[in-house]
Amino acid sequence: MGWWQLKQGGTGAKRMSGILMMAGCLAGVWSADTRAAASEPGYVDSHLHYVDFVQRSEGLEALVEAMDRAGVAQAQLMGLAVTRKWSTQFQHPPRALEGDTPALYWYSATDYRLAAELSRASPEVRERFYPFISGFNPTDRHASERIARLLSLYPGLWRGIGEILTRHDELSRLTEGETARADHPALMAVYALAGRRHLPVLLHSNVAPVDAAEPRYLPELERAIAANPDTTFIWAHAGTSEVLNQRHGKLAWLNATVARLLERYPNLYVDLSWSVLHPYLLDGRGEARETWVALVERYPTRFMLGSDLVGHFGPLGRVMDGFRPFLDELDGSTSRAVAQDNFRRLMDQASRRGPATP
Ligand SMILES: [Zn+2]
Repeated sequence: MGWWQLKQGGTGAKRMSGILMMAGCLAGVWSADTRAAASEPGYVDSHLHYVDFVQRSEGLEALVEAMDRAGVAQAQLMGLAVTRKWSTQFQHPPRALEGDTPALYWYSATDYRLAAELSRASPEVRERFYPFISGFNPTDRHASERIARLLSLYPGLWRGIGEILTRHDELSRLTEGETARADHPALMAVYALAGRRHLPVLLHSNVAPVDAAEPRYLPELERAIAANPDTTFIWAHAGTSEVLNQRHGKLAWLNATVARLLERYPNLYVDLSWSVLHPYLLDGRGEARETWVALVERYPTRFMLGSDLVGHFGPLGRVMDGFRPFLDELDGSTSRAVAQDNFRRLMDQASRRGPATP
């Protein structure tokens, strides 16, 4: 999950509200022609937050409008598991994460809001999204029970679980209470539920701490994946983050680490969004790195792209097109697989795996 987008959503939102007033109800303007235009050669966004860190959103209409402009046919969609408190110590409400900001806390209403807004949308809009459950405290052993309740309250709606926020540099430090880790007992129960219900899990677990460029958090991730072979895991940002990039630069061992994990765990997929693009997929001149092109070609079905936008959708096209220099260096079939087919196939496979067991 990224936070930089929070600072970039304002102007686009204003412009978009004018467009929407002219366009009227978005469900009405989404025709078969625009669907065809958006699906080829476009994207499927595998990592998209409906809300920002204070749980605000430009809304579904603005999101669908941005998707149409960006050529994003479908998208994973989730809330955000944490929210910022506006305490009396601060005259102005908090926005982004940086600065002398107060704590974040776990916020389950994020899922109920997403479910309510999707339920009110037209079928044409709803079918463009794969909603994920994200609003639970990953250190609370009630988590799996709460997810099961959401699944029964909105049958057929949810397609996955996540983004589960575990080791996440500044965000871990700012979040109240026990620090989450990928192999926490509360999460092990969530993964087991996800396996039984055929719900892929999007998991954020930094590969390294901020104070050492070593894969110290990798054993937690591997224990989770190895202990749950029937659960599909998507590793958010391949374990990187903007803070790790700033602190450590490019981790020389990450490419080999990802290769080893993909070889060993057939239930693992990798989200290349945001902090992977620079400095891993592209070098300082903006050109694709051969080592990462070779890795993706070696596992062409295991990688996917996400925007990681949070609640403000104006930059969607720019963010997705940012992957173009990398996609253009892949074989045509691999490029299309990474840009759209892999995530969609994962969702289709999950729904074909037969009846879920409670
Ligand atoms: Zn995210």
